[in-house]
Amino acid sequence: MKKRIYMDYSATTPVKKEVIDAMMNYMETEYGNPSSIHSYGRNTKNAVDEARDIIAKSINAKSRDLYFTAGGSESDNWAIKGYAFANRNKGNHIITTKIEHHAVLHAVEYLEKEHGFTATYLDVDKDGLISLEDLKNAMTDETILITVMYANNEIGTIQPIREIGAVAKEHKVAFHTDGVQAYGHQIIDVDELNIDMLSMSAHKLHGPKGMGALYVRPGIKLHNLIHGGAQERKKRAGTENVPGIVGFGKAAALAHENLEEKIARTTALRDRLIDGILEKIPYTLLNGHRTKRLPNNTNISFRFIEGESLLLSLDMVGIAASSGSACTSGSLDPSHVLLSLGLSHEVAHGSLRLTVGAFNTEEDIEYLLQELPPIVERLRQMSPLYEEIKGGNA
Ligand SMILES: *Cc1c(COP(=O)(O)O)cnc(C)c1O
Repeated sequence: MKKRIYMDYSATTPVKKEVIDAMMNYMETEYGNPSSIHSYGRNTKNAVDEARDIIAKSINAKSRDLYFTAGGSESDNWAIKGYAFANRNKGNHIITTKIEHHAVLHAVEYLEKEHGFTATYLDVDKDGLISLEDLKNAMTDETILITVMYANNEIGTIQPIREIGAVAKEHKVAFHTDGVQAYGHQIIDVDELNIDMLSMSAHKLHGPKGMGALYVRPGIKLHNLIHGGAQERKKRAGTENVPGIVGFGKAAALAHENLEEKIARTTALRDRLIDGILEKIPYTLLNGHRTKRLPNNTNISFRFIEGESLLLSLDMVGIAASSGSACTSGSLDPSHVLLSLGLSHEVAHGSLRLTVGAFNTEEDIEYLLQELPPIVERLRQMSPLYEEIKGGNA
């Protein structure tokens, strides 16, 4: 069979065998509705409670402060809109950043356009970091919520979460963080990091798609987004996705086993990738902070080529990667994240994201480092600008 190497772990991850096995039982045998009072219902209710305990414990939270949702996007929308609607008597201003995932950006834009809220979108520096000074300066008497992502899905940059949370605490403003890329990949303690609301998604840590959670600190008031039955302590209606919840719990338990060792292993693969590409291929630029970045993230711009052509050529040698964000593929606009770093449209268009994970080996990295340079050289041959520079004063 043709070689196939998956290096797109930030788009989604393979569901682990143990997770699938755990889920199967709750489709085939234990399929009761957790609201039912017979044994079928009791067994699934216990399974839901158990998964909630595992996930809550992994972020040093209480189980009763964790709510299951249908994914990271719902968690982000609920935290932002639910908080804004429940607290509009306190003020109408929200602070976020220019590099958020669309689930956050579009939720904040919706509140501005349709509900009379105002928002500040913080700039980031060339490494993708916000400035705490800018954050403090953006605070007004009307500010009710700060929402800043934990780690960026495109460039991997990790924000100073504890410090942002401290600013929020000092001003008595709520702090939500989109932790979808960080949860299961970083050690997260919501108390130590001053986090009031944390969004998580199962499919980014070898769990099922369409399954997420939102941590909500006691005292934080949210309006519901989904009205209906009394599930999730009357905060999020709908019959529980029991197989999804069980799978999420299993994935969370597995992710937190020897997490520090896994971080070290992935970081080594990432660093070999970054250093190898930058060394072997000229006219390249690393996007995102060199060290304050997700252990699995490599994002590099290649001058004189289109990221899309690079993706297609890599796919032909069996390597699955991404050019920025899975959500922006299919549109011709370069990624809002890369543009926020100050990259020109041309450079942003030539970017490649490689995100590695549990099933990648050192051989995979070496294979990529062997295949990529000739592909880049061949594509560049088609660029008149490249020919000019090479022939001239390169
Ligand atoms: C994937 C992702 C989301 C969306 O999560 P879904 O579960 O796919 O809805 C939100 N934020 C970030 C940073 C992500 O990477």
